[in-house]
Amino acid sequence: MSFANALRCRECNREYPLDPIYVCDFCFGPLEVLYDYNAMRAAVTREKIESGPLSVWRYADLLPCDPAYAVDIQAGFTPLLKADRLGKELGLRNLYIKNDCANPTWSFKDRVVTVAATKAREFGFEILACASTGNLANSVSAHAARAGLDSFVFIPADLEQGKIVGSAIYDATLVAINGNYDDVNRLCSELAGKYPWAFVNVNMRPYYAEGSKTLAYEVAEQLGWRAPDRVVAPMASGSLYVKIWKGFQELGKLRLIDSVRTKMHGIQAQGCSPIAKAWDDGTTAVRPVRPNTIAKSLAIGNPADGYYALGVMSETGGSALAVSDDEIVAGMKLLAQTEGVFAETAGGVTVAGLKRLAEAGEIGPDELTVVFITGAGLKTQEAVIEALTPPLTIEPTMASFEQALGERDEVSLQAANSAT
Ligand SMILES: *Cc1c(COP(=O)(O)O)cnc(C)c1O
Ligand SMILES: [Zn+2]
Repeated sequence: MSFANALRCRECNREYPLDPIYVCDFCFGPLEVLYDYNAMRAAVTREKIESGPLSVWRYADLLPCDPAYAVDIQAGFTPLLKADRLGKELGLRNLYIKNDCANPTWSFKDRVVTVAATKAREFGFEILACASTGNLANSVSAHAARAGLDSFVFIPADLEQGKIVGSAIYDATLVAINGNYDDVNRLCSELAGKYPWAFVNVNMRPYYAEGSKTLAYEVAEQLGWRAPDRVVAPMASGSLYVKIWKGFQELGKLRLIDSVRTKMHGIQAQGCSPIAKAWDDGTTAVRPVRPNTIAKSLAIGNPADGYYALGVMSETGGSALAVSDDEIVAGMKLLAQTEGVFAETAGGVTVAGLKRLAEAGEIGPDELTVVFITGAGLKTQEAVIEALTPPLTIEPTMASFEQALGERDEVSLQAANSAT
C-alpha cells in the first residue's frame, strides 16, 4: 500500500497513471509523484515512524511503492553528527553533519535506488539499469544482486578505480562509455526506449527521485522533529537538493513538524557549475557545460533539475555557489581532520561551500545548519593522495623510528620557519 495516486507533469500539471514513464506526452515536462496527503495525514504519526525499521523503510508511508516488494540492503538512517570542531573552525555553534557515507554502498544513492528497485520489482521488471557518475552504478549493482536481478550499468570511461571495482564486485554488466555523463545519459534514454529494463534514473526517475526525501525526514526526526535553519547540499542534476526541500515541506504538511523556514544552499564544483552560473547571472535558463573537475560524482553538465533547484533557492532565500578543485581537496581534509569523516570529492565540495558561506557571514553563528555529506572518501582516493603526508617508512628498530621522527620534526620546523 502506498498513498501515491498519480504522476503529474511539473510543467503543465497533466496527470498520468503510476506507470514506468517519466515525461509528459504533451509538453515533454518531467513527471512527479502525487500523493493523497489527507489520507496520509490520517495514517502517519511520529510514533508510528519511530517504531519502524532503522532504514528509509520507516518512512514507507511517504514513499511511492509497496514495501512488500522492498529491495532492502538497509539504506538510510545514517548518523547525524553534531560537528563542534568543524563548527569552531568556521565560527558556527550549531552545525551538524548528515553522514551518508554510512550507507551500504557508501553513498546517498542507496536511498534512491532502494525505492526505484522496489518499484521496478512491483512493475515486474527483471533487469535494473542506470546512467551513472559512479555511485549510482555501485548502488544499482548491489541492489540488483540483493534482489537476484541482472543489472546493466553505464558509466563514463574515466571514473575512479574505487567506483569501477565497487560495481564490478556485484557482477553487474559494466559498460564504460568514451564520453562524459551527459553522453552516457543520452544513450541510456535511447536504450530505455528499446529495452524493457528499469533504468532507475530514466524511466523510473519519478519514483527514484522520491528516495532523496528520506534525507529530510531523517534529519528532522534526528533533530527532535524540526527542520534546520540552513541546509548546505551538493548539486549534480539538482534532484537531491530539490527533494530535500520537498521532504521538509511534506513533514510540515503532515503536521509532523512546525512550519518550515529552511534556507537551502546548493554547491557545485567550478569545473561543472551550470546551476551556480545561472544563479549568479540571475537567469532561470541553465546553460549546459562540458564538465572538468575532480568531483566526478557531480559532473553533470546538463542538469535535469537545474531549473527547479533555482526555484527552491529563490523561494527559500538560499543560494548557489561554486568552489575550485583546490578548495574541494582542502574541504575533504578539513572535514576528515576536524570530525573524523572521510568524504569523497562531493563532500569536499559541500564543506568548501559551507566554509565560504560561513566566512561571508551568510550563515549566522547560532543558526541550526545541516551539511549533507553524500559519499565516502575511499572511492576517490586519487583526488587527495598527493595532498597527504606519506607514512614514515622505517626499519623495525627503536633507532630507526626515532631517527625518522627527528627528521619529520625538523621538516615541520623548517616549514614553520619558512612560513613566518
Ligand atoms: C549523485 C550524487 C549527488 C547529487 O546528485 P543529484 O543528481 O544532484 O541528485 C551528490 N553526491 C554524491 C556523492 C552523488 O553520488
Ligand atoms: Zn506537461
